[in-house]
Amino acid sequence: MLFDRFTGICYISFAMDKSLRNLPSVDKILSDKRIHCLEEDYSHDFVLQGVRQHLEEVRRHIAKGVPLPSFDQMVESISTLVNSLAQPNLRPVINATGVILHTNLGRAPLSREATVAMEECSRGYTNLEIDLDSGKRGSRQVHVQSLLCKLTGAESALVVNNNASAVLLVLSALVKGKEVIVSRGQAVEIGGGFRIPSVMRQSGAKLVEVGTTNRTYLSDYEEAITHRTAALLRVHSSNFRVVGFTQSVAIDELTPLGERYELLVLDDLGSGCLLDSARFGLEPEPMVQQSIAAGADLAMFSADKLLGGPQAGIIVGQGSLIAKIQRHPLARAVRIDKVRLAGLAVTLLHYLKSEAETKIPVWRMISASVEEIEERAQRWCDLLYGAASVIEGESVVGGGSLPGGTIPTRLVAIKGRGSVKDLADKLRCELPVVIGRTEKNLLLLDPRTVLPEEEEALLNRLRNILNN
Ligand SMILES: *Cc1c(COP(=O)(O)O)cnc(C)c1O
Repeated sequence: MLFDRFTGICYISFAMDKSLRNLPSVDKILSDKRIHCLEEDYSHDFVLQGVRQHLEEVRRHIAKGVPLPSFDQMVESISTLVNSLAQPNLRPVINATGVILHTNLGRAPLSREATVAMEECSRGYTNLEIDLDSGKRGSRQVHVQSLLCKLTGAESALVVNNNASAVLLVLSALVKGKEVIVSRGQAVEIGGGFRIPSVMRQSGAKLVEVGTTNRTYLSDYEEAITHRTAALLRVHSSNFRVVGFTQSVAIDELTPLGERYELLVLDDLGSGCLLDSARFGLEPEPMVQQSIAAGADLAMFSADKLLGGPQAGIIVGQGSLIAKIQRHPLARAVRIDKVRLAGLAVTLLHYLKSEAETKIPVWRMISASVEEIEERAQRWCDLLYGAASVIEGESVVGGGSLPGGTIPTRLVAIKGRGSVKDLADKLRCELPVVIGRTEKNLLLLDPRTVLPEEEEALLNRLRNILNN
C-alpha cells in the first residue's frame, strides 16, 4: 500500500479497513443477552432491523473517520434505537411559541369535554348512522346539523374533512363548467398548497378575476357578469393584510347583486368565527352569523381555527344547495369520521351553552388578561431560580385568522449557558417536547399558549436542562 505523505489517504483508509474488519457480526450482536432480552417485547424481525440499521450507521460513521464504538456502546445504542422505533412518532408538544393557532403544531387544542367525547366514541360503537327513534338508517350529519343551524342562523349544514375540501366540493357540485367571479385581491394562497386559482381549476369552474390587487368595487363584479356566470365568491384573505389605499366589497353588498342577476353568493370565511373578536380587543374577524344574515347562499369555514374544534370543514346555508352538494360523489370522498364529529358536536355545544370563552382553549388563551399571563410568567421565573426574567411581548392568533392580530403578553426569557440554539434543540428533541421562540440570544416562552396542566412538566424540563 502506498502512503501519500501529503494527504495521508492511505493511512486513513487503512484505519477504516481495520475498523470495518472489527465490526461485530449481526449474529454476534443478536446472541448478546441484552439484545436477546429485547425479543421479549418486540418481534425478532423488528430487533434484527434495529441491529442492521445501527450497523449501517456505524459503517457510515467509520467512512467519515469516526472510531469504532465499543461492543457495549453498540448494544446500548441498539436498545435505545429499537425502543425509540417502537414509539409513535406523532406525539404531544408543549406549545410555548405564543402562536395560538399554529398549523404546524396541529392548530386548535380541544376542550376536555370534546376529548372525552372523542375517546368514548372511538372506543366502541356509536349511533353514527342509525336513527335511534326509528331504528332505521340515518345520516351522520344529524349530529351537528341542527347545532350549526341554531348557531349560525343557516337553513342547513354539511360537515366534511376540512375547509379546503369544503370549498372544492361546493365549487365542483354547484358551478362546474361555469364562471365564478372573484376579486383579484382575494385570488389568494392560504398556504400548504391551497390556492384559490388551483382549487377553482380542479373543480372545473372558471375563475374570472376582477378589480386590482388593492381595490375592487361592486361595479367591477357587475361588469364581469355574463350568461356564463354562476357565482360570486368572496375569500377571506386569511393570512395577509393589504393596508393603505384599499377597497373591497363587503358580503352584504355582494348579495343584492347576486340576487339581481340570480347568481350564487359563496363566502369562504376561512377561520369562521362565532364570537365577536372585537370584544377581545382584536380586529373584527368575519362571523359566520353575519355572512348568513347578509344573505350569502353558502358559507364555508374550518372547524380547527377560531372555532376551536377538531379538523373539519363546515358548509352552512341554503337547504336545497346543501342537499345537492351532499349527493355529489366528492362528498363521500371527503366525508368526516365519527371521532371528529363527536368532538365537533361537543365544541359547538360550548357555544350554545355560552361557555365557549371558559371551556374552549383557543378562546381561553385569547381572553386571558395580560395580568394573568404576567403572574404565570413571574411564577415560572421564581421556580427557575433566577435563570430567567419576564419581558413584554406579543402573542399571535395565527392559523390564517386575524392577519396581523397580536395580543400583548409577557414572555419568560432564558439566556442559558450555551448557545440559544442548543437550548432550543434540547427542548425540542427530548420528551416532553417543548417548542418556544428564539430571538437573538434569548429563548422566549409565552405562557399564554401553554395549558395549565402542562406547566409542571415544562418547568421540570427547564430546570433539568438549566442545571446540567
Ligand atoms: C384556512 C383556510 C382554508 C383551508 O382550510 P383548511 O381547514 O385548512 O382546509 C381555506 N380558505 C381560507 C380562506 C382559509 O383561511
